[in-house]
Amino acid sequence: MSAKVRLFVEQPLGPAQPVALTREQAHYLFGVMRLGPGAQVALFNGEDGEWQSDVVEAGKRKGVLVCRQQSQQQSRPPDLWLLFAPIKKARTDFIVEKATEMGARRIIPVQTDFTNSERVRQDRLHAHAKEAAEQCGGTFVPEVADLTKLDALLAGWDSQRRIAFCDETLAGASGPLPDTPGPWAILIGPEGGFSDAERRRLHAMDAAFAISLGPRILRADTAAVAALTLWQSTLGDWR
Ligand code: SAH
Repeated sequence: MSAKVRLFVEQPLGPAQPVALTREQAHYLFGVMRLGPGAQVALFNGEDGEWQSDVVEAGKRKGVLVCRQQSQQQSRPPDLWLLFAPIKKARTDFIVEKATEMGARRIIPVQTDFTNSERVRQDRLHAHAKEAAEQCGGTFVPEVADLTKLDALLAGWDSQRRIAFCDETLAGASGPLPDTPGPWAILIGPEGGFSDAERRRLHAMDAAFAISLGPRILRADTAAVAALTLWQSTLGDWR
């Protein structure tokens, strides 16, 4: 039987590999989830797949698990990045959580002309990605980059990576996602939308395809989930 509790750890995993827990992990497993010695926990670290492990030491602030057998090979989502302009904290957290569940390989918060938020807590966002991966049964945790200026990112853009530029001025028009495989990025703007200069620049890039997300203007967090759904069902691992 597979363990119900899943935990992301930083250590290597392998046959009979002991894994020492951090204080927070011990608190979660033994304080919150009420596990004790002999209980099973599924572990993953983003590299070695998922391993079934047994609790061999359970303390208030520490503990040790030992890997028994691999229960999932390591998998990676398709080569899809999500670029989004951070919004209010709770909605930014939501975007990172949903992008992890939806299978983005890399998440890049971008500062656009109309982005309200000047900074993001990259470590906190990464913690959200780990939690989302624990919850959704995946073995992969997307990298969450630091806030990056959209200008700078586009200046160094690899032309092989296509951009699904979600352009709110196309709402209601036809702007389908091209069915072209390969590395992609989705770009979602802030509450204020994209500036004219940004829109001009993106329209001039060969790698960028302006797409519509339907007839209604979506909030940025909804738009992120909608675009990820569209991409995964057209080009990704839902097909
Ligand atoms: N304030 C803007 C809307 C911004 S919505 C306005 O009223 O026009 C936030 C982001 O979600 C947009 O920048 C875009 O990337 C995406 N988005 C929302 N609805 C969309 C739609 N129907 N088509 C394409 N992109 C959309």
